[in-house]
Amino acid sequence: MEIPIDDELKRIAKGEILSDTWSREIYSVDASNYIIKPSVVVCPVDKYDVEKICKYCFSKNMPITGRGAGTGLLGQSLSSNVVMDFTKYMNKIIEIGDDYIEVQPGLVKGILDRELKKRGKFLPPDPASSNYCTIGGMIANNSSGAHCLSYGSTIDFLQEICIVYSDGTTGIISGNNKSEDPKMKTLLRLLSPLIHIIQSRYPKVNKNSCGYRLDAVINDKGFSPQKIFAASEGTLGILASAKLKILDIPLHRHLMLLGFKNLLSAINTVPLILQYSPVALEMLDHTIISLGERDNPQQLTKNSGCLLFVEFAGDRIEDIDRKTHLCKDGLSGKCSIIESASDESTITKIWEARKGALNQIMKLTYGTRKPIGLIEDTVVNPYLLHAYTQYLLQTYIDNKLEYVVYGHVGDGNLHTRPLIDIDSKSETDLIERIAQQIFNRVIGIGGTITGEHGDGLGRSKYIPSMYGNEIYSIFLRVKEIFDPTFLMNPGKKILLNSRV
Ligand SMILES: Cc1cc2nc3c(=O)[nH]c(=O)nc-3n(C[C@H](O)[C@H](O)[C@H](O)COP(=O)(O)OP(=O)(O)OC[C@H]3O[C@@H](n4cnc5c(N)ncnc54)[C@H](O)[C@@H]3O)c2cc1C
Repeated sequence: MEIPIDDELKRIAKGEILSDTWSREIYSVDASNYIIKPSVVVCPVDKYDVEKICKYCFSKNMPITGRGAGTGLLGQSLSSNVVMDFTKYMNKIIEIGDDYIEVQPGLVKGILDRELKKRGKFLPPDPASSNYCTIGGMIANNSSGAHCLSYGSTIDFLQEICIVYSDGTTGIISGNNKSEDPKMKTLLRLLSPLIHIIQSRYPKVNKNSCGYRLDAVINDKGFSPQKIFAASEGTLGILASAKLKILDIPLHRHLMLLGFKNLLSAINTVPLILQYSPVALEMLDHTIISLGERDNPQQLTKNSGCLLFVEFAGDRIEDIDRKTHLCKDGLSGKCSIIESASDESTITKIWEARKGALNQIMKLTYGTRKPIGLIEDTVVNPYLLHAYTQYLLQTYIDNKLEYVVYGHVGDGNLHTRPLIDIDSKSETDLIERIAQQIFNRVIGIGGTITGEHGDGLGRSKYIPSMYGNEIYSIFLRVKEIFDPTFLMNPGKKILLNSRV
């Protein structure tokens, strides 16, 4: 008689194995609308546990999906097979160096932030979910946040990765080209002759989490194989630890909160503000402002139809003062300055309002009518953002949809959610149709369909139209190098042979 998988796994692994109904219910959801119950959840205690579990699952042809905090917005960490949770045991800081950290994947970003702050350091990518999300999830989604504008996304900080492949073997992959891992040599052989195609087919945007980031792996700076795992959503292997670059916290900051009469007048000023090199340029629309004011009537937004958050930072106070004054002069007559602050407590308080945006938006849920996040993360060149936003709003108006818009406008990265009744076939068909239409527009003007939230279950099917068949066929070959039997997080990124 065959022994059940959970009993076998209990025998093989030191970590916890959960297969009771309650645990499987808990792990059946993330921050998306999908619900998929795993057959078993494993919580490994170390890399050796991960290797043993992978080896066993490989022998049984059983897919594995890694999981951090489950805050992914597109169903990335959901699976009906084995889910591997890193938050329980593999959640430690291994080392903090002068300019790098080495961490386990289940470490919560907010905990890392607090440790680094004591040393005057920081890891810049700052998702609004940073109080919960893990470094493993951030690498796998190539997460970013408000300060990506000047510092970059997680991929830009990834130096080295320890990865366990589907068969239980391990590779240490770093950016110094010295990796002995045969898979990296195969990857280099595959990509080297394609460098020009790759560089010409990728969007020239500040942030991108769509597909595999081949443009960051091979370019005129060289070969950075560790970056193939950023944005890969755990589809190439399980991340057991990672080294990331860290920076010194800038000595001075200044944050302005600007009120505009409406969304389009605010977005119209984005190119002007970018001239002064802010480290962050963010936006909230009228609906989100109203939801915030409902909770906190003291909030001073001066009846604004739209808010922009503009931060300057650096080590020379004179530079920040100069930029702030020039920016205020340039904006004269275009908006009201609601707040202009240099002290940390005011700056933190103002940023909290921006960070809480998605939580506010979810309050618009009424029964089966929800703010739906399929087209919620497009990026276009910020100089084209005004025209693109006009197109987006007109599409909503033409289709009589209520909506919210917010996001990282300095990067040209709009988060937007129309309100849809998910039980209505005509409304779900409509959102699919609109998504394809909006994505075609974004791709046509050289943007990306996802800047930071990733593809997951919701958007993977749009990857071929994003990059074209030639690049997609390279993605398939990349997948075959790392995961030839398609066992790593099926149903995400590559849709062939997938068993979600
Ligand atoms: C309220 C809210 C606000 C958000 N704001 C932002 C934002 O500002 N910017 C942003 O970029 N994102 C944002 N997100 C999205 C999300 O929080 C981030 O993508 C986050 O980094 C995901 O981390 P996680 O630990 O929750 O990962 P999970 O959702 O658990 O997993 C994400 C992906 O990582 C993979 N994974 C996790 N660990 C491993 C591992 N060890 N090995 C292999 N694969 C692994 C999973 O399989 C999955 O594919 C937000 C989400 C919410 C709910």
